[in-house]
Amino acid sequence: MSSIQKKLMEAVDESRDYLIQLTSDLVRFNTANPPAHNTIEAQTWFATKLNELNFRTELFDVFPSEPDLVGSLSGSGGGRSIILNGHMDVAEVRPDEKWDTGPFQPVLKNGRIYGRGTDDMKGGLAACLSAIRAIQSVGVKLRGDVFLESVIGEEAGEPGTVRCLERGYKADFALIPEPSEFNICGQGGVITGWITIKSPQTIHDGARRLCIHAGGGLDGANAIEKMMKIIVALQELERHWAVVKSHPMAAPGTTTINPAVIEGGRHPAFMADECKLWVTIHFLPSEDYEKVIQDVEEYLLDVAKTDPWLRNNPPKFKWGGTSMFRDKGEVFPPADIDPNHPAVKILAKAHKVATGAEPPISCLPSVTDSGWFAKAGIPVVIYGPGSLKRAHIVNEYVEVGELVTAAKTIALTVADWCS
Ligand SMILES: [Zn+2]
Repeated sequence: MSSIQKKLMEAVDESRDYLIQLTSDLVRFNTANPPAHNTIEAQTWFATKLNELNFRTELFDVFPSEPDLVGSLSGSGGGRSIILNGHMDVAEVRPDEKWDTGPFQPVLKNGRIYGRGTDDMKGGLAACLSAIRAIQSVGVKLRGDVFLESVIGEEAGEPGTVRCLERGYKADFALIPEPSEFNICGQGGVITGWITIKSPQTIHDGARRLCIHAGGGLDGANAIEKMMKIIVALQELERHWAVVKSHPMAAPGTTTINPAVIEGGRHPAFMADECKLWVTIHFLPSEDYEKVIQDVEEYLLDVAKTDPWLRNNPPKFKWGGTSMFRDKGEVFPPADIDPNHPAVKILAKAHKVATGAEPPISCLPSVTDSGWFAKAGIPVVIYGPGSLKRAHIVNEYVEVGELVTAAKTIALTVADWCS
């Protein structure tokens, strides 16, 4: 361990109270999503905390009065840059959840901070600030730029991170301190989609026999029954994918197709003239969602050709979306991970310096905004304090020790990568 590394870790240890306070202050803002529309106070306040560390800050609306916040810290030049990205929104709190203490009244107990967002992922955001604070207090001069992004909307697949990229915030590496149990992670992707079967005519229940029995002569169909064929086809495709698709870091069978929601029919007096299926598709870190949905559509349209009615009334598709709640759809692109990328090696080394252990490199069994960086060609990893097992749950918590470790490894990583 170098003397700079030692000083950085001591500085983080000395900032323990700052880290606890910052995490708790962030949790006090109710930024639950849904209902969303509630991040502006938190973002504006967090901007002042960035300003205290000499970040130039920019707030810009993703949705009206729901801004992203980006803090920029210019390096002296000639160094590699980094984006530290986290989301300010937190998982919803349902009225029936029985918390021991209020979800937005953080409590420090037995070395843990309890509250919604402590684990996912206001603790991670706070750790980033604590890391930069340590770098500044030790006097490490950074040559590359540091960007700290506090985005909105991640919990609902909204384009917080996308807007930062569109606004031109790019770097040589991005780190997202989502709860990963200090695994260095890539991720598979997710896309939701609506599959709709619609009949051109609305047929009365009394005419059903004309559609299904000999000599009826009416070429009509019940959209719900036709959707049954689509569901069976999706199951067969899912099984085929499980057999033929694999990735060294993704669990076998990752590529699932879940028929999540079904809506159809209008009244018992009619044949169902429309049926809509909402599906959730997971795919591998190495796949593009454009190709995945193309494969699904081609397969289902081929299946439709084997049915005399579906041949003439094929299913229609609507994929993705910019919000699970506002737009009923989302897409999270995947982020493959290169264990030999220099930034990954620096992060792994930093983790070892801070903890004495080698961090596992794996695939997060969930999705984050990391895929948007990958799609923009920016190498990215997920690495952070806490655990997915504690995200979105009643009595969510993060351990203070985990936050301190995260701040140390991030400080070591930024100091190494950017200087
Ligand atoms: Zn998260």
